[in-house]
Amino acid sequence: MKVSTEQLRSYILKDIAVISGENVVECYQCGKCTAACPVSKAMDILPHQVVRFLQLGMLDEVMESNTIWICASCFTCAGRCPRDVDVANIMEALRVILLRKRGVSRLKTEDVRLVFSEGMPEQGVVSAFRKFAR
Ligand code: SF4
Ligand code: SF4
Repeated sequence: MKVSTEQLRSYILKDIAVISGENVVECYQCGKCTAACPVSKAMDILPHQVVRFLQLGMLDEVMESNTIWICASCFTCAGRCPRDVDVANIMEALRVILLRKRGVSRLKTEDVRLVFSEGMPEQGVVSAFRKFAR
């Protein structure tokens, strides 16, 4: 059976909702997640923009961004959202989907050692490990 691009996009959007447990439709684009994010300056798409792209079904923009890899899984955004949208969970779901698809790790072991040597807080180290496929 041939799957159209539209169907594939719809499957992936459903996967994001199932894995993250979040409903992006709830977001009303207040930007509080972005304002609170400690690493937003390094992102090419801001956290609230990730949610907006997903609302619009614009997956490529999100999947090809560096944002989901820059995200440190600190959950600060989740605590600020007035609509109970946990952007950290959404970022995690996006990474999981990409890692499963590629079947490879985004980070190499050497990268994680570098993180350790630079005195990254524990949360950052755990976040780095979460970016491994296996
Ligand atoms: S804080 Fe919540 S409602 Fe506001 S932009 Fe971020 S996800 Fe959307
Ligand atoms: S979980 Fe990710 S997106 Fe949310 S505030 Fe932390 S670094 Fe930013």
